[in-house]
Amino acid sequence: MSETLENLLQENRQFPPPDALAASANVTAAAYDEAAADRLGFWEAQARRLSWATPWESVLDWSNPPFAKWFVGGKLNVAYNCLDRHVEAGRGSKVAIHWEGEPGDTRTITYADLHRSVCQAANALTDLGVTAGDRVAIYLPMIPEAAVAMLACARIGATHSVVFGGFSADALSGRIQDASAKVVITADGGYRRGKPSGLKPIVDEAVAQCPTIQHVLVVRRTGQDVAWGDKDLWWHETVEQASPEHEAQPFDSEHPLFILYTSGTTAKPKGILHTTGGYLTQVSYTHHAVFDLKPDTDVFWCTADIGWVTGHSYIVYGPLSNGATQIMYEGTPDTPHKGRFWEIVEKYRATIVYTAPTLIRTMMKWGEDIPAKFDLSSLRLLGSVGEPINPEAWMWYRKHIGRDTCPIVDTWWQTETGGIMISPLPGVTATKPGSAMTPLPGISADVVDDQGESVPNGGGGYLVLREPWPSMLRTIWGDDQRFVDTYWSRFDGMYFAGDGAKRDADGHLWLLGRVDDVMLVSGHNISTTEVESALVSHPSVAEAAVVGATDPTTGQAIVAFTIPRGHVDSEGDAGEALIAELRNHVAKTLGPIAKPRQIMLVPELPKTRSGKIMRRLLRDVAENRSLGDVTTLQDSTVMDLIASGMKTGK
Ligand code: ATP
Ligand code: MG
Repeated sequence: MSETLENLLQENRQFPPPDALAASANVTAAAYDEAAADRLGFWEAQARRLSWATPWESVLDWSNPPFAKWFVGGKLNVAYNCLDRHVEAGRGSKVAIHWEGEPGDTRTITYADLHRSVCQAANALTDLGVTAGDRVAIYLPMIPEAAVAMLACARIGATHSVVFGGFSADALSGRIQDASAKVVITADGGYRRGKPSGLKPIVDEAVAQCPTIQHVLVVRRTGQDVAWGDKDLWWHETVEQASPEHEAQPFDSEHPLFILYTSGTTAKPKGILHTTGGYLTQVSYTHHAVFDLKPDTDVFWCTADIGWVTGHSYIVYGPLSNGATQIMYEGTPDTPHKGRFWEIVEKYRATIVYTAPTLIRTMMKWGEDIPAKFDLSSLRLLGSVGEPINPEAWMWYRKHIGRDTCPIVDTWWQTETGGIMISPLPGVTATKPGSAMTPLPGISADVVDDQGESVPNGGGGYLVLREPWPSMLRTIWGDDQRFVDTYWSRFDGMYFAGDGAKRDADGHLWLLGRVDDVMLVSGHNISTTEVESALVSHPSVAEAAVVGATDPTTGQAIVAFTIPRGHVDSEGDAGEALIAELRNHVAKTLGPIAKPRQIMLVPELPKTRSGKIMRRLLRDVAENRSLGDVTTLQDSTVMDLIASGMKTGK
């Protein structure tokens, strides 16, 4: 990874923060200095943003690395911090969640409402025998009860394990078994793409394999018929009948808050364990700092699903701990029409949108005339997370969603890091399209070479974290050794994230995706991200995925799968001409070494359920192999679509 193409990173557009935002920003440049002078003192100051029942005795215990303890001896209740303290401060009537169901039904939930529901759910779970330390699986659509269920667990000290509602019965039962969960909270179904889809039948199939499950709590969402067994209980007959009085008990700062399984794109899913005090400190601080959240005026919208870490940290714990008003949407962005997201922004006057590059590229494909139909003037800040954002997608987002005025925060982090680690600060940083810029105050990220030495500016290598951080994973559930082996063994004393990165001439960070996705072409390391970004910078391209295929002469050769933008003619000769033009465009942008051997025009790309490109399957296609495991694919028909709709150019 140390050898990099010299002509990469030619991006030199820069966007300083808007004056008004800079003048009233929650966090200024002083935060970097404070954290540099006294990192632990800095995090202590952030922990004081929360309400603690018992103060901590020491900030960090790192005597047994990599097993960290933060805010040692401190006690707090997460749900108290997200709800009770806002209600006690007289903000109970403030809207916590504007919920929008896919069919168009809506609910407006205040902090007082949410507090009441969470107390009821806490009492109901206690009645079912759930006590502190027990595990509860949550398998729900994007309905408010998902947040209620998580907060109710936190309130009574039960450890939740949310499983994304699109996962199969096998995936669900594997996760329930790994955590020995006692209760599952689910729904009859949820709305996806305009129709109800059943969840309860999947739970029934999973629970049959899970002897630890004692109760299945079922929210009625769609009203569809469900089979009913002796473990099953309706939410509305239990939770909604329970007492709304519940006093939250404080738990130790290191009490397990949740387990979240990584998506398993690479191997057997890992149960990432997060605990209480450090996690809440960092997600609350980063939500306040990175999104410049003003609880009295902002309407925040994170479009992620609650089944991913982004939903945990930036729908539930970050925003609610900060007393934010937010939007929660149940369905898909194209139901009933491709402008649904922007219609929601207009309707609720959203001020901050936090979404993923995959969605931005999809919107690019659909065309800018769609967002242009809606009033997006309420927006003041945009965020991105999940994959590297290609500079042209970044520019499109800025121009067509952000009216050329909203700052964009490209936030790098992982399930394992719990909260945002690398990101611009919107009132401070002059951003560059495609760069996550700098580690946040109190975070020590670095880029190192094979030997673990920091690379100089202009160099590339492996992204590592040199110091522990408050919301770091504490272990892999039930497998300390795998935790050590996976993250702490590649480089001595450093956390290895598995991602490649570059540091540009100014010292700013550019994330390059997983190191497994780096190609070796004629002795040069070339990242798939860079070639994809070069392709997306062509006006005819909406989205691209690049893989390295074995090649007799060059070791690996670059093969690109490219989705043309909506208006582009890619049939017959026009398609061939486009392919030739794109190959030359990449060669011109990145240098002849990066010229793809082959470009295929395709209608779709294979993606994981969290919307990330699955390059592994495309490598199979590029190398003419039969496809590997496709179970984590979002849409299993897409590979057929690619095979049938493929136009190949050599
Ligand atoms: P799995 O670990 O199960 O294979 P995953 O890594 O995709 O799945 P997440 O923890 O949700 O699961 O995603 C974290 C990864 O997403 C990062 O390691 C990185 O590769 C990528 N990522 C997230 N945000 C960014 C970003 N802003 N820029 C570049 N890459 C990002
Ligand atoms: Mg990962």
